[in-house]
Amino acid sequence: MNRLLIIGPPGAGKGTQAVKISEQLSIPAISTGDIFRKNIKEETDLGKEAKSYIDSGNLVPDSVTNKMVRARLAEDDTKDGFLLDGYPRNPEQVHELDTILAENNEEIDQVLLLVADNEELVQRLLGRAAEQGRTDDNEEVIRHRLNVYEKETAPLLSIYRERGLIKEVNGLGEIDEVTERLLDALK
Ligand code: AMP
Repeated sequence: MNRLLIIGPPGAGKGTQAVKISEQLSIPAISTGDIFRKNIKEETDLGKEAKSYIDSGNLVPDSVTNKMVRARLAEDDTKDGFLLDGYPRNPEQVHELDTILAENNEEIDQVLLLVADNEELVQRLLGRAAEQGRTDDNEEVIRHRLNVYEKETAPLLSIYRERGLIKEVNGLGEIDEVTERLLDALK
């Protein structure tokens, strides 16, 4: 079964790769960041709750994020698998995801870890900021997001490493080249 995660620092290319992999495997790519951004744009209550955290590069509180993911994973299109991009982001979220899946006797099958050098990440994110104008893409917030990744998200890798689920892939190179590496890693 393809119940998959893609984890990596901001700028590693998770979102781009998640879409490509999900197309190849015919499973939905679920990006918590995209869901938040859509809600902010539509000015929903969820969007209003999340906006200040996102703009400052901090994690949205678990209570808000976990509820949103639980609702998304209850949708029909996830029953034959999914690729979660940007969740879980801390050990508490790992626990919540385990709980949600265990309710249906399910578990995560594989975890893709996309890695890249820090300065490369900053340069990529600054480039993307110029192109897309994301409100959380100025240099100060970018560096903060990289720190949040190191402090809050990187510690969860040891949990999946102990379970033997991590497939580490180098995120440097052409987009299609990286997609190939990721698909190979899943075999
Ligand atoms: P991303 O598009 O994955 O880089 O996410 C953009 C922003 O959305 C992050 O910097 C967080 O503020 C928020 N976010 C996305 N996913 C999560 C999550 N799993 N937990 C908390 N905040 C999140």
